[in-house]
Amino acid sequence: MSQHIGAPCKPTVAKRQEVKAGDVIGDSDAFVSAKIHSPVDGVVKDIANRSHPVLGRELAVIIDVSEDNTAKLPKPESFESFNLQDYSQEQILEAITTAGIVGMGGAGFPTNVKVAPNEKMPKHTMIVNACECEPYITCDYRVMLEWTKQFIAGVKLIQKASGCKTVHIGIENNKPKAIAAIKEVLSSTSDSESIDVVTLKTKYPQGGERQLINAVMGKVVPTGVIPPMIGLLVCNVATAAATAEAVVLGQALTHRALTVSGKGIKNPGNFYCPIGTSVSDLIDHCGGLTDDAVKVVLGGPMMGFSIADMETPTTKTSGSILVLTKKEIGKANYLARQTNCIKCGRCVGVCPENLIPCDIASSVRARDLDRANRFNMSACMECGCCSYVCPANIEITGLIKTGKILNARNNRK
Ligand code: SF4
Ligand code: SF4
Repeated sequence: MSQHIGAPCKPTVAKRQEVKAGDVIGDSDAFVSAKIHSPVDGVVKDIANRSHPVLGRELAVIIDVSEDNTAKLPKPESFESFNLQDYSQEQILEAITTAGIVGMGGAGFPTNVKVAPNEKMPKHTMIVNACECEPYITCDYRVMLEWTKQFIAGVKLIQKASGCKTVHIGIENNKPKAIAAIKEVLSSTSDSESIDVVTLKTKYPQGGERQLINAVMGKVVPTGVIPPMIGLLVCNVATAAATAEAVVLGQALTHRALTVSGKGIKNPGNFYCPIGTSVSDLIDHCGGLTDDAVKVVLGGPMMGFSIADMETPTTKTSGSILVLTKKEIGKANYLARQTNCIKCGRCVGVCPENLIPCDIASSVRARDLDRANRFNMSACMECGCCSYVCPANIEITGLIKTGKILNARNNRK
């Protein structure tokens, strides 16, 4: 029931109730929230707390899949003759809300709230985050390559719904086939004049909103300023593809493309799978673990979360599951013990948000959230660079994530 930023949903179904794929199973009256739908036909087995990839344990609706459930398949062919003029701004916004779409790149901000025109903060430019800069993850790449028309249809629909005059698709230069496919669709379809493709240098981190805006437009977004305040809207590839499914096919956000990778998995790949599938089911589907698998991560190697409970369900924002071996993690790191901060400043030098990660981390460790907030903890984009370079092996990013969760819990009270 917690798959987005904002108010979690409350279950709208009861134990033993039959549900059909696409039925609403969770909802909220809050302004910032998004509906949750069943991805399968089945019966509600339980409503109980389950492991959550980020928040510890959260309320979940557990559904026994019925034997005659039909697997939902992607329908990229439905967008061959897409015509933007068939959909009004109101229709698009309504479909996004009804489908429960949220930012699927990781943030999980409800898309209807983000995209809806706002008189106080009018949006003029949309930037599509097509970078997918973390190693291993390729699900957005496959969407751009295999469902190009669907992806571009989603971009045009979000542009129309938001009122943005211009769209820049920011994509890294290590994806030449996707760049060619997108340019081909843009040059052969109508309503593409205001959309361009900006090829970027491949580097990490690039997918954070501030970094992307700077790379695409050369604009520096100051700390404390969010993109809508300066007329910008950032959305990602999966969100655009889901928007096209919602508007054109009337489908709720129940499935997504997801990468299962790492040397610890026998048959890695990209899958279009029901949201809520457990990590263990996905690993089994990929042939299981190799003998030297030691770590399972939900998300990428830099920004993801290690998980211990294999029954953890995927959510709308889960783009990948990695299973890493001792060799991939690095023997030194695998065995390394955390030591005291030696004040080397490396974490400060690499932080793309110009923060002082060591001081934020030590504040969180001391449970001094006021001090952590004075160091601007909320501006951290959780890129993981500080932890990566720390010679003392301090889990700086993990501490910052914990600090943010504690902040959110305090705010809820
Ligand atoms: S994870 Fe570390 S390096 Fe990355 S933005 Fe946060 S504090 Fe800076
Ligand atoms: S990189 Fe690690 S050891 Fe160096 S200042 Fe930052 S936290 Fe301390």
